[in-house]
Amino acid sequence: MSEPAQVEHTIGELRQSLAGSVLVPADAGYDQARRGFNLLVDRRPAVIVRCLDDGDIVTAFDFARSQGLEVAVRGGGHNPAGHCVCEGGLVIDLSPMRGVAVDADLSTAVSEGGATWLDFDSATQAFGLVTPGGVVGSTGVAGLTLGGGIGHLTAQFGLTCDNLVGADIVTPSGKVVRASADENPDLLWGLRGGGGNFGVAARLEFRLHRLGQVFGGRLTYSGTGVREALRRYRDLVARAPRDLSCEALLSVDESLSPTLVVAPCYTGADADPEALRELRSVPGLIDELRVHSFVDQQSVFDPGYGVDRNYWKGHFVRELPDELLDQLLHRMVALGRPPGQVLIESLHGALKDVDATSAAVGFRDAAFNISAMAAWTDPGFDEQHIAWARDTAAAIEPWAVSGGYVNYMQAEEPIERVRAAFGDQAFERLRALKSRYDPDNVLRRNQNIPPALGPAQA
Ligand SMILES: Cc1cc2nc3c(=O)[nH]c(=O)nc-3n(C[C@H](O)[C@H](O)[C@H](O)COP(=O)(O)OP(=O)(O)OC[C@H]3O[C@@H](n4cnc5c(N)ncnc54)[C@H](O)[C@@H]3O)c2cc1C
Repeated sequence: MSEPAQVEHTIGELRQSLAGSVLVPADAGYDQARRGFNLLVDRRPAVIVRCLDDGDIVTAFDFARSQGLEVAVRGGGHNPAGHCVCEGGLVIDLSPMRGVAVDADLSTAVSEGGATWLDFDSATQAFGLVTPGGVVGSTGVAGLTLGGGIGHLTAQFGLTCDNLVGADIVTPSGKVVRASADENPDLLWGLRGGGGNFGVAARLEFRLHRLGQVFGGRLTYSGTGVREALRRYRDLVARAPRDLSCEALLSVDESLSPTLVVAPCYTGADADPEALRELRSVPGLIDELRVHSFVDQQSVFDPGYGVDRNYWKGHFVRELPDELLDQLLHRMVALGRPPGQVLIESLHGALKDVDATSAAVGFRDAAFNISAMAAWTDPGFDEQHIAWARDTAAAIEPWAVSGGYVNYMQAEEPIERVRAAFGDQAFERLRALKSRYDPDNVLRRNQNIPPALGPAQA
C-alpha cells in the first residue's frame, strides 16, 4: 500500500479524471460522508470517491488498485456491519447516483446504485406502481436487494431480490457486465441474495406491481396484552394471508415493561380486514391503523440516521412456539433499558411460491426472521449491549434454520454462518461466480464469499 503522502500527491489527478468528486480528510463534508447508520463503526478512509456514472466507478477501482487501497462500496449507508466504509482505504460512494426511471407501460423501474427506498417508492408510486422493498425509506435499494430484501409487501410480491430482473455491474477489473434472464443469468442468480460480492451495481432493474393505497400503520400493545398479542400475531401469519404482510417489534418502555408494535400492511379489498380483527381486539391496544399511501406505510418505523450505536444478531426460525415467545419477552426485560428491540419478520406468502433455484437466498423455508437489535448512544455501554444481542440470539438459536440474514449480520460473523445462510451448494456456486467476476476478492467488505480459485480468504 502507498504511503498517505503519495496518495495525497495523486488525488489532484483523480479529481481531474472524474465527473463526480473526491473527499479526503482535509475536505469539508468528509466527516459527514464517512458516517453510516451505525455509530459503532468509526472509520477514516483515505479517499471517498463520489461517483456520478459508470466511468467514475471504473476510475475509482483503477485508482484503488494503483495505490494498493482497500475498497468499500456505499449505497444507502445502512449496513449494520458498517461495510460501506473502510479504514485508510477508498470508498466508492454511490450516493450521488440516485435516479429512478419508471417505465409504466412495461411495469419496470431502473434504479441507480445509490438510490434509497424513499427515492424509489416516490418515483414508482407516482404511477401507482411498486416493488417490495425495505421498511425504512433511507435504506439503500442496492444493498438491501443484493442481500434478499424483506419488507411490507413480502407476502404479496415476494422478496425484493425476487423482483430484480436485471442489473448493470461494474467489476473491479473495470468491465460493465449486464445480468438478466438472457445475459449472464448465473450472475443475476448470484445478485439475488449474494450481496455486493461481484461488482458495483450501477443500475438495478425491477419488476413493478400495481398498488394504490394500503391499510396499514401501527398497533401498539403494552402491559399484559403483549404476550397475548404476540400469540395472535403468530397465529395470524401462520394462516399465510397473501394480501397481508406483518412485522412485529418488541421493545421495553421506561418502566422496563415489554411493549409490542405490530405493523400490518394489508392490500386486499376488505375495509375492515377480518384477518386483523383478533389483533385489534386485544385489551389496552393503541390502534393507529388507517388507509394511507404506501409511501406513508414506509415511514411507520422511521429510526434516525446515524444517531445510535447498533449491534444486531439473529436467526431465521422454523416456528414461533410459546416457549420461544416467552424467551423473547424474558430477553426484553433482561435488556433493562430502552432503546433496543427484537424484530420479528414473518416469511409467509409469495416468497414461498418462487422457484428456489432462481435466487441465491437460502432462507425461503423459514417461518420468521428474528433479530435482536441493540441500539444505544453511550460508548460506555458497548459491552453490555453487544452481550445482550448475542445472548438473545443464543436464546433463539435452538429454533434456528439456515444461517443468519446477511443484511443484518455484523462484520465478525464467521464464514460458516455466511455459508449456512446460502446452503453448501449455493455457496459453492457463489464462490465460482466470485472467481469469475472478482477473482482477487477486491470486494471483501461485505458478508464475504471467497473466490473458489485464487487466494482463500475469509
Ligand atoms: C434502519 C434500517 C432498516 C433496515 N430495514 C430493512 C428491511 O426492511 N428489510 C431488509 O431486508 N433489510 C433492511 N435493512 C438492512 C439492509 O438491507 C442492509 O443493511 C443493506 O446492506 C443496506 O444497504 P445500503 O445500501 O443502505 O447499505 P450500505 O452500507 O451502503 O451498503 C452495504 C453493502 O451493500 C453493498 N452495496 C451497496 N450498494 C451497492 C451497489 N450499488 N453495488 C454493489 N454493492 C452495493 C456493499 O457490499 C456494501 O458494503 C435495514 C437496515 C437498517 C439500518
